[in-house]
Amino acid sequence: MPKDKKLFYSADPTCVFVQPPPTTSLVFTSDEGREATLDFSGEEIIYSGELPVGESAKRFFEAYHGLLKAKSDKELRQLLWFRHGCGITHLYGDDGEMQCGACLIDFKRDSPEKIKQRFVQLGIDTMKQEILK
Ligand SMILES: [Zn+2]
Repeated sequence: MPKDKKLFYSADPTCVFVQPPPTTSLVFTSDEGREATLDFSGEEIIYSGELPVGESAKRFFEAYHGLLKAKSDKELRQLLWFRHGCGITHLYGDDGEMQCGACLIDFKRDSPEKIKQRFVQLGIDTMKQEILK
């Protein structure tokens, strides 16, 4: 891969998208380190390298699937962050962050299991407060 090109996304280290959109080339790398480049910056699409086309195609679709899944996961996290029950004044969303200052959940980084545990704990805390009233 040319050193002057900037990587902008890799859902999977075995398929690297080079240059910000519009992408001009893709680099595929096998687990053994064999590499191939699909260059579509010119009038003709050029495939070069030692990785068979079929294997590169497999790498591409794995990475593409990862991209779609990451996008879908992010959209669902945004919805959950925005409407999880705490008021909008508690939400912090600058620079792509998705945090809540009331329940202290980081919707961008916390795992679904950790978020669920926090929801359960908050429910238990609310029940205790209701009982003690
Ligand atoms: Zn909250």
